[in-house]
Amino acid sequence: MEMPGNIFLNNDCFSGTCSGVPHTENFYFVGRYHPAHYKGFTPWKRLHEYEGIPESGSEHTIITQGHGRMIIDSHTHIGTIHDFSITGDMLLRSMRRYGIGYALVSSVEGAEFDGGTRELEPWKPQITVNEEVAALARAHRHMMKGLFWIKPRREGWSHEVERFMTEHHDLMAGFKAHPALSMLNITDERYVPYIRCAERMGLPFAVHSAPDEFSPPRAVYDTAQRFPGVNFIMVHMGLGTDNTEAARYIRELPNLYGDTSWVTAEHVLDAVRECGSGKILFGTDAPIDGEDTYQSYSDMIAMLRRELSAHEFDDVFRGNALRLFRLEV
Ligand SMILES: [Zn+2]
Repeated sequence: MEMPGNIFLNNDCFSGTCSGVPHTENFYFVGRYHPAHYKGFTPWKRLHEYEGIPESGSEHTIITQGHGRMIIDSHTHIGTIHDFSITGDMLLRSMRRYGIGYALVSSVEGAEFDGGTRELEPWKPQITVNEEVAALARAHRHMMKGLFWIKPRREGWSHEVERFMTEHHDLMAGFKAHPALSMLNITDERYVPYIRCAERMGLPFAVHSAPDEFSPPRAVYDTAQRFPGVNFIMVHMGLGTDNTEAARYIRELPNLYGDTSWVTAEHVLDAVRECGSGKILFGTDAPIDGEDTYQSYSDMIAMLRRELSAHEFDDVFRGNALRLFRLEV
């Protein structure tokens, strides 16, 4: 059964009349959900305990797993640059609309350049940018933790960063580097003190990757190889490529992971097959493309649900994030 913009994955349980109550061990779906239809369904009751799942109302589009397992988005954003703006409310609305139970969030205000060579103004120090992320995480601690987006070029490392991360260890779960928006190749020494800090604190380090002069998959690989004590997430797995080079690197290094943001369904599946389900994390960049960014991922989610075992699916959509970011949710 198809409804506009929705995909039903367990039609034997979830019939067009909504009379069936899903009850299987491995119930997952992407589709419309009406709370009244799920009375007495224990996993759903447990899901209701999470802030991300609507308790009442008419129909909601939900992407979730059964058995009380939430979906974790390891790559989301807030922040305002020029006329581009994502508020915390937009992210929260988007997560609630699509039933995303938990997110790792960073602020695009960590960018140092405008995507070209112009310095981004007005300047906001990295601590200030990330204080805003921590404040959002504090207000919604059951739904998110922050990643500290670093400014290695125009500002640079200071011990204040480590002090901030220590003081906010319950709110901040890792670091985020965007070499293109810092105009600084990820192999540059100016990243090293941040990476060493991640190592001391046992936190992962997410790095934007794309076939440009700053963030090619090879450079992310070289960095991960140099610091085997830090888990690196190569987000986008080489943005806009066929992702095969990135997947090869991710397979090779135990401390290098990939995320699914802007990777096609087929290429995500290929990467999971090549690297193992323990190496790929669900991540989306939401709501960078609007509050319905998750809609762009419904084909990918449906394909992985079809092609992966329940265990593998859970790795990608929850388990790996729990482990890497040391979440207790
Ligand atoms: Zn991003």
